[in-house]
Amino acid sequence: MPRPIAARISIAALAHNLGVARSLSGSARIWAVVKAGAYGHGMVAAVRGLRQADGLALLDFDSAALARELGWQGPILMLEGAFEATDLETACALDLSLVVHDRSQVAWFGNHRGSPIAVWLKVNSGMNRLGVRPDEVVELHGRLSAFPGVSGVSLMTHFADADLPDGTARAHARFDAAAGGLSGDRSLANSAALGLHPETHADWVRPGIMLYGASPFDDRSAASIGLRPAMSFESRLIAIQNLVRGDTVGYGSTFMAPGAMRVGVVACGYADGYPRRAPSTTPVIVDGVRTHLVGRVSMDMLTVDLTAVPSAVIGSPVQLWGPLLPVDEVAGHCGTIGYELLCAVAARVPRIVQD
Ligand SMILES: *Cc1c(COP(=O)(O)O)cnc(C)c1O
Repeated sequence: MPRPIAARISIAALAHNLGVARSLSGSARIWAVVKAGAYGHGMVAAVRGLRQADGLALLDFDSAALARELGWQGPILMLEGAFEATDLETACALDLSLVVHDRSQVAWFGNHRGSPIAVWLKVNSGMNRLGVRPDEVVELHGRLSAFPGVSGVSLMTHFADADLPDGTARAHARFDAAAGGLSGDRSLANSAALGLHPETHADWVRPGIMLYGASPFDDRSAASIGLRPAMSFESRLIAIQNLVRGDTVGYGSTFMAPGAMRVGVVACGYADGYPRRAPSTTPVIVDGVRTHLVGRVSMDMLTVDLTAVPSAVIGSPVQLWGPLLPVDEVAGHCGTIGYELLCAVAARVPRIVQD
């Protein structure tokens, strides 16, 4: 028998969440962001569950090739663009659109002789990560538009603070000032802006996290915005220990039993992507009942308090996060966000794709 751990991915939940994004986005088209292996869900599930999207957005050329192999025929946007000149040949062969975020990438298009490539010129509107300066936009848009190797130039930016009520106004104004009057589609909004800032929707929105059923907001649950978790991270109990008062559990003996109690050993550890920093208060579902971790998470196992779960036996099902326990809640206990936990689910965890 394989080790009893899996990430179950729901095609129906992905499709439902895309529908939520669609209902928020009005007439804007949707780049479904599937970077990081579709936020840990896997490209197989993403291509099936998100087939109603208008395009896929991702980062690495291998994933773009995989999306094509899996039958995705629509647009694909490479969010970091080309890493070297020869990537333009790959882009041509796979019919990919490329972000241009720095002037060092521009010359490659001047030398490009294959079929023309669609370009998205990325403007740095204040995040200071990727993007050309606002005062470079007119010049670079003009140069790119004039190249025979470029089929068209669209404009995009990315917000640093879209989860805050007044988080986009300044950046949006900078973008508009830089892009005003230039031809081409516009794309600004991630999940948070899609939910909170309708004035940023423009021609294409770029939701990521919401498609997977987690929240882009600190203070609003995914369920409250109508989203359904697409991943259920599951394992089983592989052992049970009967402790007496004063017994300790796991490395560092950080948990001490206050009295007689049962502790369950779950086949899931940090090598599976479960965060080692999760403290003893972190919730876990055992046999449908909410309980919590005890002691340190180790490489291949973690331990849970079975006091609230008298029915638990070896083989009882465990849900680390999923429909019964939002990933954002687990993340909150670990001082991080759902994004990080979803993306961290290890390659050794099989993805089981379900309708
Ligand atoms: C990751 C990413 C997104 C999606 O962000 P979410 O917060 O997951 O919706 C959109 N645009 C760009 C450029 C990104 O890198």
